[in-house]
Order: sequence, then structure tokens, then C-alpha cells
Amino acid sequence: MDLRYTPEDEAFRQEVRSWLAANVPTQKIRTMEERQAWHRKLYDAGYIGMGWPKEYGGREARPMEQAIVAEEMARINAPAGVNGLGIGIVGPTLIHHGTNDQKQRFLKNILSGEELWCQLYSEPNSGSDLASLQCRAEIDGDTFIVNGQKIWTSGGHHSDWGLMLTRTDPRAQKHDGISCMLVDLRSEGVEARPLKQINGDTGFSEIFFSNVVVPADNLIGELNTGWRIAQTTLSYERGGSLMAAVSQNQRIFGRLVDAATSLQKDGKRAIDDPNIRRRIGEIYREIEVLRYAALRILSRLEKGQRPGPESSVAKLHRSELNKRVQNLINEIMGPYGLVAGDAPDTLGLEADVSYGESGSWAHALAASYSGTIAAGTSEVQKNILGERVLGMPKEIRVDRLQLAEAAKPNA
Ligand SMILES: Cc1cc2nc3c(=O)[nH]c(=O)nc-3n(C[C@H](O)[C@H](O)[C@H](O)COP(=O)(O)OP(=O)(O)OC[C@H]3O[C@@H](n4cnc5c(N)ncnc54)[C@H](O)[C@@H]3O)c2cc1C
Repeated sequence: MDLRYTPEDEAFRQEVRSWLAANVPTQKIRTMEERQAWHRKLYDAGYIGMGWPKEYGGREARPMEQAIVAEEMARINAPAGVNGLGIGIVGPTLIHHGTNDQKQRFLKNILSGEELWCQLYSEPNSGSDLASLQCRAEIDGDTFIVNGQKIWTSGGHHSDWGLMLTRTDPRAQKHDGISCMLVDLRSEGVEARPLKQINGDTGFSEIFFSNVVVPADNLIGELNTGWRIAQTTLSYERGGSLMAAVSQNQRIFGRLVDAATSLQKDGKRAIDDPNIRRRIGEIYREIEVLRYAALRILSRLEKGQRPGPESSVAKLHRSELNKRVQNLINEIMGPYGLVAGDAPDTLGLEADVSYGESGSWAHALAASYSGTIAAGTSEVQKNILGERVLGMPKEIRVDRLQLAEAAKPNA
């Protein structure tokens, strides 16, 4: 693995940096229209879906070029565009598994943000154990009839379409009876109810399906192969733009040091406390570990390999690290860290949440916890790492009766 950037990469970085300096919004984005306008600028500049084939609006950029754009945006906390799930998950799924007609119909509008997408996987009783999902699609001529409920659908109530997993064969083993399909959320029988969160946001919906008609042409891949297809999409979700996470953490680390050097408690600065200094040092070390892990994945991608279960390492580390960073910032900020709402800048220390937005430090702290649940919880990532990366046994069943027998004094 060569850790140096080539002169071409460095030149490309300068080009991206200059473009961002001239174009990034100077005011905080507040409405969906403003976000869409910013997305359009990024799209016109060729910075959205950069790795996609040219015929679908991409530029077939190398993973390194994509990482440089993500890194540069994160470095200055540039706002994200729209349609993150469409571009990050639905598009790559269609590119790998879709028919030509599906690619022609959907890919360009996903990229331009003209049609917004969501991911319809989780259900009230199927999150970590996703394969137990119950939302069903029954074949009726050349259509499916869909009935059931999804939950925690990010951006569900703003979306036009959803990438959905449904049960198409209730008699098969649970992983073998699932199909993946594209569902028009403007169809009759779809009801999206926004979920109000404890921080006041409505980032998710629950979505109900009552006899919703989905054309059979919207099936992705073969019938009952949805589980295999979902594995591709999940590995993209877990591995995506790790270099951006490094850059984000480096920026937030700067805020952490600012807070520790400028805030005083009982006449002393936090940075003068050896315990705080040690923890700041540990976080610096962890960010460096994340950087090397990111470069390792990037070099796999540069060789044309797909992100595999190793992307779970990245997902686990970046989300848990973010939680530790936000907790330490909050501890240093003391009561200021609890100020909610939109006025965090009283100390010249604007809050910085992890994914390209700014808001209160309290909001950033809460968001860091949700990052350890989204796209598979930390415990689930550890299971994947144990089983699929380290090759440990899948499940150890302990017979309770045998255990009780063994625990008897004379056994
Ligand atoms: C910010 C955010 C965005 C999301 N966006 C979407 C979205 O767009 N679309 C979508 O479909 N879903 C989305 N989700 C849902 C997410 O995928 C689920 O919340 C997640 O998979 C966990 O499922 P659950 O909430 O049902 O928890 P459960 O699966 O009920 O887990 C509860 C607890 O048990 C633990 N646990 C469960 N099974 C095991 C096991 N085998 N071993 C060890 N521990 C275990 C978990 O780690 C957790 O601590 C989102 C969630 C969040 C937080």
C-alpha cells in the first residue's frame, strides 16, 4: 500500500478546493429547496455519483478522486446534497443488479436529485434480524400486491420512491423467501407517517402499505434473491466514504482542542487537566487508526475490489469514535454543551455534528448515538466481524439443562 498521493491527485485536490471555496453556500441551508439548489451545483460540477458509468451521468472517477471530493467537503463542513440513500445505495444496487430498462429509467434522476429515494428495510419486529421481515408481496398476474409496515425510514415522507425488501415466499427458509423491488411511494395505499424524535427532528417515517400494486418489472434480480442483493447494498452503506469520516473527525478534533483551551472552569482551562489531555491524545491516536483503515479500504477499491464485510470495521470504528469525541466535548463544555436549538455560538465555538451540518452540541451528542444504530448496530457489526472476517463459530448453543446439570456440586 502506497500512502502518498500522486501529483495528479494533488492537482485534483487543488481544483476541488478552489471550486468549493468559490461555490459553497455562505449561509446555513434551511429549506429543502436550498438544499436541492446546492445539490444541482454539485451535480453540474460533476461531484455527485462520480464513480458511476458516464452513460448514467457519472464520470467513472477513480475511488481516490471520489475520496478526495468527500474529504475536501468534510474538511470545510460543506453541506451534503440531497438523495444520499438514492446515490449511495439504490444507484449502486441498480448498477450491479438492475435490468437495462431499470437503469435507463431511474439512474439519471437519482443522480440529479429529481426523484428522491429511501430504503424500506426495517420493520417494527425486524431490525438486526432483518431476514425475519414480514411485509409481504403476493404475485397477481404481472404485478405484486404489497401489504405490511416499514419503520425508521430515513427521509421516507420526502421520498418519491423506495428500495424495498418484501417476503415473496413465506414457506421458504427466512433468507430464501425475500425479494427486492422498487416501489413508487405515490401509489394508492401508501401512507407515510413522520416520526417525531426526542430532539424535535422528524428524520424518519413509518410507512404503511395496504394492497399497493407494484409492477413485476420493478423486481430487482430474480424472485426470492433479495437477501443476496441486500448484502451488496448494506456493504455500500457501511463502507461508504470513510475518508470523509477521517476528515470530519480531524475537523471536530480541532473544535475539541479549541474548547479545551478556551473554556475555563474554576479559573482553570480543561487542557491543563492531565486526565483531559490524556483523553484528547487517545482520540488523536484513534483518528490516525481510522485514517489507516480508510486508506486500506481505499486501496482495495482502487484495485477494483468491492467493499466486503471489512466495511463493518469501518462502520463500527467511525461511529463509536464519534460517540467518544462528542462525549468528551460535552464534558469539557459543561453546561454550555446542553444548550439546545440554534444558538450555540456564544463562545465562538459553533457546534459541529458529524454529517455535514451544524447545530447545537447537545444535538451533535444525540446524533452520535444514533450513528451506532443506523445501518446495523455496533453489536451486529461485531458479530459480522467475528463470524465473517475472523472466521469464529457462527453460534454457540448452550443447552440450559446440561449447564444446570454441570453446575450441580456432585456432577
Ligand atoms: C439514524 C438511523 C437511520 C435509519 N435509517 C433507516 C432507513 O433509512 N431504512 C431502514 O430500513 N432502517 C433504518 N434504520 C433502522 C436501523 O437499521 C435499525 O434501527 C437497526 O438495524 C437496529 O434494529 P432495531 O432498531 O429493530 O433494534 P433491535 O434489532 O431490536 O436491537 C435492539 C438491541 O439488541 C441488540 N441485538 C440485536 N440482535 C443482536 C445480536 N444478534 N447480537 C447482539 N446484540 C444484538 C442490538 O445491538 C440493540 O442494542 C435507521 C436507524 C437509525 C438509528
